[in-house]
Amino acid sequence: MVEAVLDQQAWRSRADAVAWDVRPFVDGALRESHAAERFAVRDPATGAVLHEVAAGDARDVAAAVASARAAFDDGRWSGLGVLTRKALLEAFIDAVVAQAEELALLDSLEIGKPISAALFDAQVLSPMFGRFCVESVDRLFGVVANTEPEVLAFSVAEPRGVVGAITPWNFPLVNAIIKVAPALAAGNTIVLKPSELAAASAVRLARIAVEAGLPPGVLNVVPGLGRTVGQALASHDDVDMLSFTGSTATGRLLMRSAGASNGKPLLLECGGKSPAVVFADADDLGAVARHICAEALHNQGQVCVSRSRVIVQDSIKGALLEALVEAARAYQPGDPLDPATGFGPLASREQWLRARDLILAGASQGHGPVLGDLTALSSHGGADMAPFVFSDLGRDNPLWREEVFGPVIVLESFSTPVQALALANDTAYGLAATVWTRDLSLGQAMARGIRAGEVTVRATAAEYEGPGFVLPQEGRKGSGFGSETGVEGLRSYTTWKKVEFHTARLA
Ligand code: ADP
Repeated sequence: MVEAVLDQQAWRSRADAVAWDVRPFVDGALRESHAAERFAVRDPATGAVLHEVAAGDARDVAAAVASARAAFDDGRWSGLGVLTRKALLEAFIDAVVAQAEELALLDSLEIGKPISAALFDAQVLSPMFGRFCVESVDRLFGVVANTEPEVLAFSVAEPRGVVGAITPWNFPLVNAIIKVAPALAAGNTIVLKPSELAAASAVRLARIAVEAGLPPGVLNVVPGLGRTVGQALASHDDVDMLSFTGSTATGRLLMRSAGASNGKPLLLECGGKSPAVVFADADDLGAVARHICAEALHNQGQVCVSRSRVIVQDSIKGALLEALVEAARAYQPGDPLDPATGFGPLASREQWLRARDLILAGASQGHGPVLGDLTALSSHGGADMAPFVFSDLGRDNPLWREEVFGPVIVLESFSTPVQALALANDTAYGLAATVWTRDLSLGQAMARGIRAGEVTVRATAAEYEGPGFVLPQEGRKGSGFGSETGVEGLRSYTTWKKVEFHTARLA
């Protein structure tokens, strides 16, 4: 976590002074939306209205796409030398870091993200990803074929053109950077539609980009609703690629919109219901339980790779459940603007109601939670939710099957590795998994057997830096497709062109 310099009172004063401006940012300036419909964005921690945003419409999208198209076609971005493009992106990322407190505050207020976590997103995670993309530009090699001397034949990675990006609310700034940085590093221009719950940091990001020297029209942002702005962007015939992070249901809708319009290629990062599989040889169950909670409850459980299904070997089931309950109890919602808070409310009252309905449905088809208070859920009026732990609900239960996007852990047990693998793969998703064992062969068999884009085998709960963003990964099943990391992440935003020179033979 980042050391917060400001205290709760100072953040509160800054929050009261925020000048909200969440208008479309098109061709280098804030514009008025064409749409008359507006909606309110509320602080989930207090329920107070923060500001209002235009719902947006197809005209806003058309203007932004036209701006991005002109900026792409005249080469003001794709035609720059690579060194210049990289220097501009570096200046942009430096400016994000310089304004990290302002950006973090916007995210914290709009979705109730604890300010320390929002600062980490803005000061550490966003620049780390952005810089990785800038460095990757130099590793985006083409291919040269071996031919007779008169022929030079090669394939070169070209930018796709105008990229449309649609992002969710759980990491508003980071999600925006994850789309904007590789798209721009690869030479594209972009129209970004952030989540309706949390668009302020994305609009600020576009302003920062222009102030840092990026040409106008290269990064455009259109706030608004999914059914208006998102739909128009996905259906636009002049958008050359659509990059999406969000629910599986919306991802599937976008495939239809892409197919019904110009057949634009998609990069989809959708939902997950990822497992943490714990074998009996796992070391130190207390540490394992704390780590599982950190992976399942981080960001109030609103993370696509959240390991929310715990699959445990029979012989240690009782001990692990006890340790999990104790570890989960430590997560109590606090004021997001208090730098000491590690766990805030859910992102909105609507998100809270969705999670509550799933919890009540799950409990009514099974039995009550091992941790968590169902009665309190019925009468609660806010958006904060302490964690729930359920055990033995069965594999047909909605809490086992569906992504809650809230602080809910479900536990099932197994006796053999074959059963463990079957339980791990008993999901419509395939994003991530963690396997706890000290047995190399078991870890290897599980890692290769689990149908997910990333698997971590853990002999220890100790934390290492790991590989950062250098390795590619890709969702399976309902979790989407296409890599956002590694050089391949940049490659997702390019397309191949084969070029051949056939030259005259010297007489
Ligand atoms: P979440 O549950 O994370 O909010 P959604 O898939 O509903 O997931 O939202 C992710 C993003 O997709 C948001 O920016 C949202 O506005 C957008 N979105 C939602 N519905 C549509 C749609 N029909 N067409 C295009 N974008 C949409």
